[in-house]
Amino acid sequence: MNISHIEHIGIAVKNLEESIKYYEEILGLKCYAIEEVKDQKVKTAFFKVGQTKIELLEATSEESTIAAFIEKRGEGIHHIAYCVDDVAKSLGEAEGKGVRLIDKAPRNGAEGLHIAFLHPKSTGGVLTELCEYPEK
Ligand code: ZN
Repeated sequence: MNISHIEHIGIAVKNLEESIKYYEEILGLKCYAIEEVKDQKVKTAFFKVGQTKIELLEATSEESTIAAFIEKRGEGIHHIAYCVDDVAKSLGEAEGKGVRLIDKAPRNGAEGLHIAFLHPKSTGGVLTELCEYPEK
């Protein structure tokens, strides 16, 4: 696969508003977007740090994977997202090398990105997201 950079780091939080305060008031970053991703049952807040973003994730339902993550491991880093030129092709390559996939095909994520997750069992315990910018 062809990775250009870390697109974002996903961080699971209990309360988006409270967490935004830390990033803005202590780190001096600016939240430039808040977006609900309905099919993932999360609300997200984004900060830019150079080319990379911080994505805060708050569960909007008990059934959200973010709620389950916090229940099990508490707040903290949830996933790393790498920017690739072709998610579908990268998934195929990874699967061909025996990597377990969470998503067999790309789906729509926040900010209109095409995204897919690799299973942490195959990635050394780090939930790994591949994402691709939509065609401009
Ligand atoms: Zn993400």
